[in-house]
Amino acid sequence: MDQIRIGMFISEKRKEQNLTQRQLAERLGITDRAVSKWERGKSLPDASSMLELCAVLGITVNDLLSGEVVSMNSYNENIEKNLLEMVKQKEQSDRRLLKTEIVIGVLSTVFLFAMISIGAVFMMMQEKIWVFFLLFGIGLLQLIVCTMFCLRIEQVAGYYACRKCGYRYVPTYGSVNGAMHMGRTRYMKCPQCGKRSWQKKVISAEDK
Ligand SMILES: [Zn+2]
Repeated sequence: MDQIRIGMFISEKRKEQNLTQRQLAERLGITDRAVSKWERGKSLPDASSMLELCAVLGITVNDLLSGEVVSMNSYNENIEKNLLEMVKQKEQSDRRLLKTEIVIGVLSTVFLFAMISIGAVFMMMQEKIWVFFLLFGIGLLQLIVCTMFCLRIEQVAGYYACRKCGYRYVPTYGSVNGAMHMGRTRYMKCPQCGKRSWQKKVISAEDK
């Protein structure tokens, strides 16, 4: 924040309202020395007098802190820029999530086969069938947990696109879980047009 600029802006707006420093100070219930200090850029209005000052001068707090009247155009531009930045960040984190899902899937499958192999060795070398079933069970259980976790990622990361009408949406966990799938493409009913189709996973909410 540029204190000098804000001070000049306060002075300019005060004169537009045909107020002396003393008159402005009286309306705000402060000393004219304080107003003089703002206008020379020596200090900023504190929070308690800022709203009232802006009301008297007919400006917004955003104007005051910018040291100029912020036009509606650049105001909207600012909001749009922030929104775009947020969308971009969500797309990036969704991509990361979907990569994580693959890593989890691979590790989980490797773990299951490791358990089966170790179990098989115990069964053949030491005739301990129960060890085989124990390890097989552990491997299967972690595969189920990891699968549930991966399904959750597939549900929330990005969107599914309907083949019939192009509608993009985040499905419920139940419909992701219950649908036939090939890779990440799932056979689901579109909530927009109600038709069933093989819906692709897409990262963006809009067709790019
Ligand atoms: Zn549809």
